[in-house]
Amino acid sequence: MKLVLVLNAGSSSVKFALIDVDHYGNEQDIARGAVDGIGQTSRWNVHRSDGVMNSETTIKDGIASNHKEALSHIVTWIDKNYGLTSLAGAGHRVVHGGAHFTKPVRLTAENIEALRKLVPLAPLHQPHNLAAIDSLTDLAPTLPQIACFDTAFHSTIPDVGREFALPRSITALGVKRYGFHGLSYSYIANELANKNPELSKGRVLVAHLGNGASLCAMKEGKSIATTMGFSALDGLMMGTRTGSIDPAVIFYLMRDQGMSADDIETLFYQKSGLLGVSGISNDMRTLREAAHNNRHAREALELFTYRIIRDAGAMIAVLGGIDALVFTAGIGENDRQLRADLIRGLSFMGFALDEAANAGKKRKISGEVGPVALVIPTNEEVMIARETAMLIDCKHK
Ligand code: AMP
Repeated sequence: MKLVLVLNAGSSSVKFALIDVDHYGNEQDIARGAVDGIGQTSRWNVHRSDGVMNSETTIKDGIASNHKEALSHIVTWIDKNYGLTSLAGAGHRVVHGGAHFTKPVRLTAENIEALRKLVPLAPLHQPHNLAAIDSLTDLAPTLPQIACFDTAFHSTIPDVGREFALPRSITALGVKRYGFHGLSYSYIANELANKNPELSKGRVLVAHLGNGASLCAMKEGKSIATTMGFSALDGLMMGTRTGSIDPAVIFYLMRDQGMSADDIETLFYQKSGLLGVSGISNDMRTLREAAHNNRHAREALELFTYRIIRDAGAMIAVLGGIDALVFTAGIGENDRQLRADLIRGLSFMGFALDEAANAGKKRKISGEVGPVALVIPTNEEVMIARETAMLIDCKHK
């Protein structure tokens, strides 16, 4: 038995999970929680599920002015409740592994420096991931730390699916498609291999539809194409992100509207997508409610749906057909209306919806003929725990 501390550090939050991975590779949640609002009014919440105390939630205000204080709070809580010696290691979600890191890696001083060099490729995410790594190194210097990458699963995409139509000198700078949400896709690939082994060998399109959204075309369990690109801004329309947009819009906004690169970055990452088009919210539930009597909410939902169908068509072409479509993440797992609309939109591929199964929260929501449609909840934390445990074991052999 080993407890793995899983860390996912964002700009204003550090989420954590404590997961028990046994010798057979089975995982069990011990606790999940987060420090939110770092640098502002920070809050702490934790949910224990180890049977000692079911569903405990505590909230305290103003406990963390930076990532190190947030981590310190988490580490102190773990020490008090389980003892730090119960930890076998920590696994970090790291957004960017660049071209070099195509598998999870033990964090050494050298590897941390290599990850720091990738900050320009993911300036909004990588610095926070590194802040958590640096802080934990200070707080628990002997604890093995592993980096698990959102990009790694896509290292199997062939060059032709990776390169932009740019001069080679620019491509050589690393300006190419990396793809993201890889930990989620990797989890889904594992789930398929375990529970639908025949399908997992085929042509599968996975739709990770949450606040961030992307598609991944998988053949034999490996990524061969994805909608996100150089950054997590590309591809589908998202909660607050534009997704793909004609790059000439940037020149126009800069030259004719006097916007700076920073202004446009904020516009594209934080003020666009469902939020921008609806003018109401980035939250799917809010928009479904509002759509009854608000045209902009309806149009935002229509555009979101349209963009997924359009890009799904491209992914299916790359796959050369489709055997299975998998829905996952907050929207994919919960919004049955969207799933129904997407399956209807893809009916030209032979998809048929089983309406009762779709409404009844079943895993298989397609009819008896045509490609299969499945709903599979993702679990990126378990994937990180699994990768971390495997790497720690390997290192001890
Ligand atoms: P994630 O980023 O995976 O946590 O997903 C967040 C998105 O999932 C938000 O847009 C939520 O509105 C959406 N979501 C969560 N629960 C539901 C639900 N029951 N119905 C529709 N959308 C949901």
